Amino acid sequence: MHIALIGPPGSGKGTQSAKISKLYALPSISTGELCRLEAKKKTKQGRFVKKTIDNGKLIPDELMISLLKRRLGKKDCANGFVLDGCPRNMKQVKLLGKNFHIDYAIYVKLSESAIVKRLSGRWQCRKCGNIMWFPTKKVAKCSKCGSSLYQRDDDKPTAIRERIGIFNKLTKPMINYYKKKGVLHQIDGNATPEEVFGRIKKILH
Ligand code: AMP
Repeated sequence: MHIALIGPPGSGKGTQSAKISKLYALPSISTGELCRLEAKKKTKQGRFVKKTIDNGKLIPDELMISLLKRRLGKKDCANGFVLDGCPRNMKQVKLLGKNFHIDYAIYVKLSESAIVKRLSGRWQCRKCGNIMWFPTKKVAKCSKCGSSLYQRDDDKPTAIRERIGIFNKLTKPMINYYKKKGVLHQIDGNATPEEVFGRIKKILH
């Protein structure tokens, strides 16, 4: 089962991907996480990836797909996977399509105002990666491990708008492509995570 979750930043792809992963025993592969791991490396490529992410831009397609294919080649992906954040444009669709067929392209729709509201309130733990929403100054520590929280540079308003712009321009053509292939499923992301997951389960069953 090869599943790709498509949606604007903040549409809850990460949350849904984790839920699908747990229920269907499939690895959840976030290309954002793959990029952030690469960005930690003290190499020329690592520094380039970090700068690109921090500016709210996309990593070049060939590089992105080669990082992704390396991950999908691992044993745990043999029975399938859930992709969170990839493909993001037609070039990635084509590059990925050379090796992998997507069985379900699930498009999680969300309005622009809902995206900005959600993302500007997202904070992440430096130590364990736990995500918290709208923590007040009093709750400035991670609820799981007590470490300090930070806001991703690309979750700041200017970068958010840049990311929405990229999504509208590049990602939407893919939706038509997957529709023609008969594998597209659209769902409304403006609901609780449980409600959204309920809609996804109906598609996958
Ligand atoms: P995300 O966590 O999915 O919002 O991704 C964070 C950042 O990682 C993006 O803003 C891009 O810089 C990079 N990234 C993630 N997925 C892709 C992709 N499929 N293609 C290019 N860049 C990506």
